[in-house]
Amino acid sequence: MVGCNFKGMAETGSFADRVKQQADIVRVIGEYVRLKKSGQNFTGLCPFHGEKTPSFAVHPVKQIFHCFGCGKGGDVFSFVMEMEKCPFPDAVRIVAEKCGIPVPSPKERTPEERKENQQRAALIEIHRGAQAFFVRQLESTAEGRAARAYLEDRGLNAETIARFGIGYAASGGDVLLRQLKPKYAEKLLVESGVISRDQSGARLFDRFRRRITFPIANESGKIVAFGCRALGDDLPKYLNSPETPIYSKSNVLYHMDRAKEPIRRQDFAILVEGYMDAIAVARAGIGNVVASCGTSLAEPQIKLLGRFTKRVIVNYDPDVAGQAATERSLTLLLEHDFEVRVLALPAIGDQKADPDLFIREKGAEAYIKLLKEAPPYVDYLIARARQMDLSTGEGKQRALNFLMPYVQRIPNRLLRSEWATRIAQQLRIDEPVLRAALNKSATERRSEVKVAPQLVGKPAKQIERRLIRMLAEAEGFKRELAQRLQHGRLYEGLETEKVFAALIVAGLSDEPIPATEIGAQLDERERRVFFEILFEDAQEPTWEEAESCLDALRRRQIEQELAKVQKTIEANPSGAGLRELLERKQELMKQLTAAGQPG
Ligand SMILES: [Zn+2]
Repeated sequence: MVGCNFKGMAETGSFADRVKQQADIVRVIGEYVRLKKSGQNFTGLCPFHGEKTPSFAVHPVKQIFHCFGCGKGGDVFSFVMEMEKCPFPDAVRIVAEKCGIPVPSPKERTPEERKENQQRAALIEIHRGAQAFFVRQLESTAEGRAARAYLEDRGLNAETIARFGIGYAASGGDVLLRQLKPKYAEKLLVESGVISRDQSGARLFDRFRRRITFPIANESGKIVAFGCRALGDDLPKYLNSPETPIYSKSNVLYHMDRAKEPIRRQDFAILVEGYMDAIAVARAGIGNVVASCGTSLAEPQIKLLGRFTKRVIVNYDPDVAGQAATERSLTLLLEHDFEVRVLALPAIGDQKADPDLFIREKGAEAYIKLLKEAPPYVDYLIARARQMDLSTGEGKQRALNFLMPYVQRIPNRLLRSEWATRIAQQLRIDEPVLRAALNKSATERRSEVKVAPQLVGKPAKQIERRLIRMLAEAEGFKRELAQRLQHGRLYEGLETEKVFAALIVAGLSDEPIPATEIGAQLDERERRVFFEILFEDAQEPTWEEAESCLDALRRRQIEQELAKVQKTIEANPSGAGLRELLERKQELMKQLTAAGQPG
């Protein structure tokens, strides 16, 4: 959303806060998940992980959701952010719209922002106009009809041409310019990238001439650039829009606007090189395909993709440039924790096959079959290394040098070791030698590889669970409870110490702090424990119960100190300071008696 003024948190009195108060989480989530009432909660099949029995719960009173399977949880906004893969302000707007709460029009804060927004809006409008114009050219001019024949020759029928908005830029040199000039300032037209200025600066002309045009949309479906292919032998064969205020090629993936839903649903994406490839694959009924529209993938593109899935099949062209691009992209994808497979299409006759050619020649079925069999990237790399000359020691070293950087990037140690064995076997390299090389490079690695966080902690003890629940919900005495816990430092050293710390801060604050905000301050593992406790069926807590829980914690504290003192006494037979230690022991024993027996 352009120029949106929502903040990242639901501040009291903010629009987000109002939406949260008025929104019904059951109704909003119910639009995505079939929910059934179960006790005081609603349950259903978790949309974030595959399951057959419901472990996903929504709490209508606390207005939170939690999955006992995968651990995802939060409030209505975090649910929508996760489902729609959108930022917070968009989630607020979506929830507001679903609940019929009027959304205030976004306000720009400064005159510069207003100017920028106006400029962006005008640039998008120019692209919309140019798109309509290119489509008309393809349909209704003699030149356009020739272009159309060429497309049909490549197997693109009228339905596909319409579906992907394919158009034609005429050869005249100022055909589009004449359309746009009456409506927009020259400066803006040049900024849009569809119009160029000659070197003298005096004359404007159409950037794209005698070319097939492919509109490139941003993630939300707005056309922000064009990719154009020469009709004849004109060079360059492909010419794309330059970088503009609304388009940066490293930020956009072709077909992402339509692919994001199938990608999310199937939890993997197919990555191809060009728009013709993406169109060919999408036409074959495989919607989860995107194109990088350049020889290699850029980091922002990977981050964009990573919002929808962490699994990708790379299917770049089999030529040298394509191989190099595949290998560069692999490096980046692995660094971003993607699970990568590589599809290298077999040649057709003596022609190397890109996805477009392969599907035209062999059909969608054959492509889908290969897609399913696509090997993990390490197998692909080993196959590449085996093409090198392995008959000499030098050759083997080269092959090893080629493979090693990728193997190092495997985050999982066991997996890394498994691959080392395979590489040793396949390249006939002495395994200890290879392992030594791997270990050496592992210690030299700049950044330590992240290990997936252990999400499932030890279940918290019953006393901790009860106290956490009281701290979160016992309106009558939670402040008193927080003070007692804080004063006696009774929660220190508990498994759930961090949950207590966050709840105590919240309990002592003058304003009520919702559970989701407390959860947001916790690590994933702790938030999970916290939410599970909130969803437990439990009876109303009483102050008596709270006190008995506090007593138990106090006893635990004393017992721990007592054990420590005892240990010091035993480890110190010389008797130095023994008197003090024994006195302390006596004192602790007395306290323990006063704290009562567990019961
Ligand atoms: Zn789940």
